[in-house]
This record gives sequence, C-alpha cells and structure tokens, in this order.
Amino acid sequence: MGPQDWLRPDCYAEDTPPDSLTMPAKKNNKKKTTANVSPEQRKAALEAKDAGNKEFTAGNYDAAAKHFTAAIEADPTDHVFYSNRSACYASVGKLNAAIEDAEKCIEIKPEWGKGYSRLGVALFKKGDLDGAQKAYAGGIACDPNNVQCDDGLAEVRKAKEQQMLNGGKMADMSLVEPVIGIDLGTTYSCVSVWKDGEAQVLANSEGDRTTPSWVAFTDDGRLVGDSAKRQAAQNTKRTLFNVKRIIGRQFSECQEEIKIMPFTVKEDKATGKPIIEVEVDDEPKDFTPEQISAMVLEKMKKTAEVALGRPIKKAVITVPAYFNDAQRRQTKDAGAIAGLDVLRIINEPTAAALAYGLDQKNAADAGADVKSTQNILVFDLGGGTFDVSLLKIEDGVFTVLSTAGDTHLGGEDFDTALAEDVSSQYKKKSGQDIFTGDDRAQRKLRTACERTKRMLSSSTGANVECFVGEHEINMPYTRARFEKVCEPLFQRCMESVKRVLDDAKMTKAQVDEIVLVGGSTRIPRVQAILSEHFDGKALCKSVHPDEAVAFGAAVQGAILSGARDSATSNLLLVDVIPLSLGIECEGKAFAKVVPRNTPVPCKKKQEFSTVQDYQQEIDVRIFEGERSNTDGNHLLGEFQIEGIERAKAGEPKIDVIFEVNTNGLLTVTARDQVTGAQADVKLQHDRGRLTPEEIDRMCKEAEEMRAEDERAERENLAAMERGDDDM
Ligand code: AMP
Repeated sequence: MGPQDWLRPDCYAEDTPPDSLTMPAKKNNKKKTTANVSPEQRKAALEAKDAGNKEFTAGNYDAAAKHFTAAIEADPTDHVFYSNRSACYASVGKLNAAIEDAEKCIEIKPEWGKGYSRLGVALFKKGDLDGAQKAYAGGIACDPNNVQCDDGLAEVRKAKEQQMLNGGKMADMSLVEPVIGIDLGTTYSCVSVWKDGEAQVLANSEGDRTTPSWVAFTDDGRLVGDSAKRQAAQNTKRTLFNVKRIIGRQFSECQEEIKIMPFTVKEDKATGKPIIEVEVDDEPKDFTPEQISAMVLEKMKKTAEVALGRPIKKAVITVPAYFNDAQRRQTKDAGAIAGLDVLRIINEPTAAALAYGLDQKNAADAGADVKSTQNILVFDLGGGTFDVSLLKIEDGVFTVLSTAGDTHLGGEDFDTALAEDVSSQYKKKSGQDIFTGDDRAQRKLRTACERTKRMLSSSTGANVECFVGEHEINMPYTRARFEKVCEPLFQRCMESVKRVLDDAKMTKAQVDEIVLVGGSTRIPRVQAILSEHFDGKALCKSVHPDEAVAFGAAVQGAILSGARDSATSNLLLVDVIPLSLGIECEGKAFAKVVPRNTPVPCKKKQEFSTVQDYQQEIDVRIFEGERSNTDGNHLLGEFQIEGIERAKAGEPKIDVIFEVNTNGLLTVTARDQVTGAQADVKLQHDRGRLTPEEIDRMCKEAEEMRAEDERAERENLAAMERGDDDM
C-alpha cells in the first residue's frame, strides 16, 4: 500500500466511528459542544463536511477543499475538518497548505494518529523524508496500532534506501539522459523507464501504475487521469476519453466512435479532421485530438519526472500496429505538444514482444533451456483496440512477420454490449427506459458494467449495481450471459489471428508462444477461444498484460538512449509496415510500391509514366491500404511534379521513391529520369498531419494552459493563506 491509498477522507467514518461526523453528536464529545459553536453552526459544518466527502470521493479535490473550508469556518474546533482538507490539498499538490492543516489537526487533537499520518504524507510528497519519518513515528507513539503510520514509515525507509543507492541524492542524475517508454492507451496509459538494469513501471501521484487516458475540464481547473474519470458522471460534456479512437482520422471516418461520445465532436471544415469542443471558463473552446492526447502524455511525463527527480525530454511512444501514417504522425505531434522529443513510435505488440524477449533472455542467462529462434504471436486486446502480430525472435533480433487487428474492438465494446443488454433487460422488467438519451445515466451504467465485467473474469456471477436518479439497478449477471452477449465480438478477434498466420504463411503448429497483452485478455472466454484455435496450446502469461507494452517501450528507449547493458545489448528491433503503400494510377487503380509487412526502415523505387501525349505535370496521390481501387484505400497525401520530359504518352520515365523511416513515417519523392525534375510529398500539407506552425501554436497553448493551471494553483494558495472562503 502506498501513502496515497488511504487518503480518502471518507475512510474516517469506517476507521474511527467515534469521530464520524455523520453519526449523531454525542453529548459528551467536547469538540462538538464548545461554547463558541452554536448548534446552527455545527449543523452547517456537518453538512459542508458531508458535501466535501462526496466531492472528494468523486475526485473533485478542489471542490471538496472548498466545502471543508466552509466547515472550518462554521466550526473551527473540529480536527477532522482540517485533516480532510489536508488530504485534499495533498492530492492536488498544495503541500504547504496540506502540512499546515495536518499540523492544526494535531494541535487540536494530539492523541489522534491520523493527524500525524496526514502530516507524514504531505511531508513525504514534499520530499522531506526526515520530517515524514518524524510525523509517522509521532503517530505510532500515540496510536501504536496505526496502520497508515506504519505503512508510511516503511515507505520512508524504502525511499531512504533508494536515496543511499543513488549516492545520497534523491535525483537520478546519471549521465545518460533517460528515454521513457509510454504506452498511450485508449483507456489507460502507462509509463516505464530503464533504470538500474531493468525496465521499471512508474507509479503516478495517486500511486497507480496505469493512468486512465481521461481529461476533464471543471470549474476548478483541468483534471487528467483518475480524477478526471471519477467525476465523469457529473460532468459528461466536459470529460474527454477514447480520443485515441479519433486521432489521425477524418471526421467522416469515425462517425461510429463519435456517435457514442457524450462530448461534442465536430468537423474542422478546412481539414476534415474531428475537433473536440469543450466549455472552458464559460467559453466554448476547440481542441484537436492531439492536444487532448498531449495532456495525457504530459501527465505521464510528469509522473516520470517526479519518480526520477529530473526533467524528462525524450520518449518512445507506442501505437497499435494497425495505426496508419496519419495516426502515427499525430501521436508524434501529441508528444511534441507535451514537450517530448519522440525518438521513436513503435508498435504495441512489438513492444510487448520485446518485454517477452527480455524475459526469455533473462531466463536463458539464468541457465534455462530457451529456443534461440521462436515464433511468437502477440495477442493484444485492450480497451479500445485489438492488435495481433506474429514475430520471430532469432538470437535477440525481433522481426515482425505480419500484423493485423481492429481499431474498433476492445473492452469498451464489451462494456457497450453488456450495458445495452442490462438496459434492455431493465426496460423489460420495470417498463421504464431510464437510459436512452441520458448521457449521465449511460455513463453510470457503463462504469457499473465495466466493474461487473472485470468481476466476471474471476467469478461466474456478479451484480450490475448503480443508482440512476431514484432508480436503483441491482441486477445479477452471469458469466455465461456475458459470454453469449459478447461472443460475436470475441469471434472477430479470431479473424485477425487467422489473417496474421496466412500473411506470414505460417501454420498454427509453427507458433511457439502466444503472448497475452491488454486488460481484456483476462476474460476467460477470450483465452479459451484463442487456446482452442491453437488446438489447446497453453497461453503465455509471463508478461504483465497492463504493463508489457510500456515495459517494452522502455527497453527500446534504453537501446536508443545508449544506456545499453548486458540485458539490452543483444536486442534489436525490426518492424514492418502495417498497410501497403502506393500511388493512384489511371482509372483509380492502386499501384503498390511498398507491400504490407515489408520490414522498416525501407526504401522502394518504382517506375511510372504519363498517360497523355506531351503531359508535363503529374499529380501523385499517395494511398495506403489493400484494395486494388483507391476508393477503398486511405489517402495519405498528394503532390505535383512538374517539368516532365515532353514526349509521347508512356515514354517519360518517372521514378517514385517511397522511404519509410524507423518510426514508420513516410516520405515520397518523384523524379524524372531525363529532365531531373523532382518533387517531394509536402507532408505538412497532408490532410492528416499538423504543420510545424500548428504544432508550435499548440505547444504554446499547452504551455499557457500549464501556466494557467499553475497560476490558478498559486491564487488558490494565496486565497487559502488569506483564509478566503471561495477557494
Ligand atoms: P488496456 O487498454 O490494455 O489497459 O485494457 C483496458 C481494458 O481492459 C478495459 O476495457 C478494462 O475494462 C479491461 N480489463 C481490465 N481488467 C479486466 C478484467 N479483469 N476482466 C476483463 N476486462 C478487464
């Protein structure tokens, strides 16, 4: 348990019933009957405290702090109010204020252990290990059974040991600049770094190793991660999630996704891209998907900076193998907006295979009998996307043989299927349709269904429980019914599995390992179908399904940073392009220049000619996809080459060169063999890509937003120091 795990003020009611302000006041409780506090004031204080607890539970720490301030105003004699407000301040990083409140709490009730643990948490977060140790020890002295102080002391001890390992410094100021690995997931993100000879997953400020990829705009500022997700039902229009589903895509391409997003997504008429509109400070404000993703990336960057005690600039970010060029570019742009130099974009299954490969290498180094050449199938079923890849590991060299997947398939779809079933069952039983058209009700139901779905992975029955207004939903649900409802979705996964095998011309028997990645691979039926498909083969679960991708990205980061050691020195990654690349010819025929599954980096040249006599210009339209007609493929960009040799149709010879770099990013050049006329694709004018100016502008906006957040925080602090009510 980390110090943050017990920061919830609502624990008081369970932990320390005599102090619970939700219980009837006891006549002999001196703090509740001081001469200066009238019964009316006391009542107001208790109401404010209850409201504060509710906000805190919903993750609205600033709003909660306001209520606790109101409670303190009404009754300044109650230690619990200070303690609760201290927890709020500690949660949002207002550490001086958190310390002050904890000290006040101890002053009022020195025999209460929790005051000391509050103080310990705030001091620990501030980096004052000695102070935190003293506070926790104080708590144990007055309350020898205080578990939180005990855990806090253990945490301090661990941090001190780490400090000693780092040569007495808190910061890891080693000469090699760390390159963090970020798994930017549809539903959750994870950050990892190579440190002390291994990839380490870093916990965020809430103590969690994965962070919901959620962003919310509230009256008290911007929230990212768990705090954003927790307040979603109260703030549906301004809580953004699933943005990975629309990044790099055209508005017209992602109507299905947009339909189920409770926030406003509109079309940018100039680019055809989706734009998210949110009310910020009572004004509608537009954000691109990359700007919102940048906010999540920024949180991951900050997590790493706090954990490593140094600024972080460089990163490797993972994307689904099936992501096209525009989706990759915009993910990279999101990194740039977040202030990151994205050294490499790598495929999620490849990263997972790296994690697996490292695990195997460690096993081999430890003397285990590991085959030097292995074919691995990585089955990655996450929250929003599904990827399956076949890789070959040969003496430490990873080659992706084929990839397939579905950018519209994942845990969210299972939640939707379950929610739809529950909603229609409820309608049938009660005769009331309480969900249709009510975003808030639907969000609550989906949250409840996700919880139930997770429980059904470990038990055969669970209840779907939630409150919608005055309606209480409490519906028993079986694993069998869940499996029936989701079976068509599960079966869709197998189509991609067949496809990767076909593409790589490999039989099922040639697959040595099946590696499971992604939270949804915990679903027993998914595992069963997959195993059955491989004639009952056991599935490999040695890599952590939620962390393997970030872990692998950190391994790649270590290789790129030069922080090579015996563990990473023999690993080399060879990726492939996920979709064929080519140009449009006469009659919209698609001429492939680079076939899918070609290893990257790669450079391919093909000769083309003119279709009309004396034609001196050609429009080069670049597509990706597998269809023979460009109408079925995805337009990446276009450019014109002028100054072609004046000759009869079919005589000029124009080389078209496709170059894909290690990030999977593409440059196309066309050159006339006779005149030497040449043109490149102007990628910055692509429909799918941001121009450097746009990136610059967005960086500035992100910077301003950061500055605004900090300013708001400073103003809050100042107001608090002045004792203002409206924080
Ligand atoms: P990922 O994108 O890999 O983080 O996966 C997140 C998805 O995994 C979400 O849809 C979760 O609901 C789902 N998930 C996590 N744990 C479980 C579980 N025990 N059973 C079923 N689904 C799960």
